[in-house]
Amino acid sequence: MVYDTIIVGGSYAGISAGLQLARARRQILIIDAGQRRNRFAYSSHGFLGQDGEHPGAIASKAREQLMAYPTVEWVTDTAIHAKAEQEGYAIVVGSGQSFAARRLILATGVKDELPALPGLTALWGKKVFHCPYCHGYELNGGMIGVLASSPLAIHQALMLPDWGPTTLFLNEAYTPDAAQLAQLARRGVTVEAEPVLSIGEDQADITLASGRIIRLAGLFIQPRTRLSSPLAVQLGCELEAGPTGEFIKVDAMRETNVPGVFACGDAAVAAGNVAIAVGDGARTGAAAHQSLIFR
Ligand SMILES: Cc1cc2nc3c(=O)[nH]c(=O)nc-3n(C[C@H](O)[C@H](O)[C@H](O)COP(=O)(O)OP(=O)(O)OC[C@H]3O[C@@H](n4cnc5c(N)ncnc54)[C@H](O)[C@@H]3O)c2cc1C
Repeated sequence: MVYDTIIVGGSYAGISAGLQLARARRQILIIDAGQRRNRFAYSSHGFLGQDGEHPGAIASKAREQLMAYPTVEWVTDTAIHAKAEQEGYAIVVGSGQSFAARRLILATGVKDELPALPGLTALWGKKVFHCPYCHGYELNGGMIGVLASSPLAIHQALMLPDWGPTTLFLNEAYTPDAAQLAQLARRGVTVEAEPVLSIGEDQADITLASGRIIRLAGLFIQPRTRLSSPLAVQLGCELEAGPTGEFIKVDAMRETNVPGVFACGDAAVAAGNVAIAVGDGARTGAAAHQSLIFR
């Protein structure tokens, strides 16, 4: 069978794209490996109508509603290879099965590379975050840390005083210039030059090299992001450089430079969130559908 569209990635962006195509009664297949980016967090914030919900609950309700449409199929697996064929694309998954479609949507998201600080990985999404809009409010105005690992640390440190008293831990990873130090001072940010040794087991308490402990409500970091899957590169899709890492370059209709291959969500934006992924997915699903009619 040749599907109208295969969507790789069955999270917020992919399901949202699928919904538009399913409502147009198109035959679609979603291939998903089940590794949502926010699976480490207990709650998701900032998405209209779902503020504070469990991220998995939002995704599973969306999936349930999508699967109620009779033209939708779902495969739980990892797409490992994609190639162009005469009339579309073929995708091979981990089990060895192969699937074909006239259009392809990549909604595969990104992976976060966390700084190597003892204890930090266990607190990711719980006490350690990257996005103040997602998790800053819940720190209830408590003490906030920013662990520098890139020049983006300055941007975070200047923003975060809106959510609580902020300390920027330079950790020998970044040296602000005089103008930046003045900006930080104007925002009331404390700058801590002593290297950081570790973070607490269940609290974001920072232990410095001297043994001094700084108690925090939450710590913000600047993870590097990497595309979660090699499919875009295999297909020859152009990438763009973003502030945290590369993402897939798309036009206004969310189509890549490879005709018939679309991309949406975190994989195709410079900085994403759930609301952006859902909106982007809706636009991409409609664009992929119309490309089946008008060309
Ligand atoms: C700790 C943390 C907390 C966050 N909190 C919030 C929040 O509170 N509010 C908010 O709006 N945003 C939050 N975000 C951001 C949010 O998680 C992302 O913006 C959102 O998940 C992007 O949706 P997406 O569908 O593009 O990608 P994802 O949700 O990452 O989904 C991508 C899907 O594609 C699948 N996939 C990838 N490659 C393949 C492949 N080769 N084959 C098959 N499947 C594949 C993955 O397994 C995954 O299921 C948070 C992020 C993190 C890291």
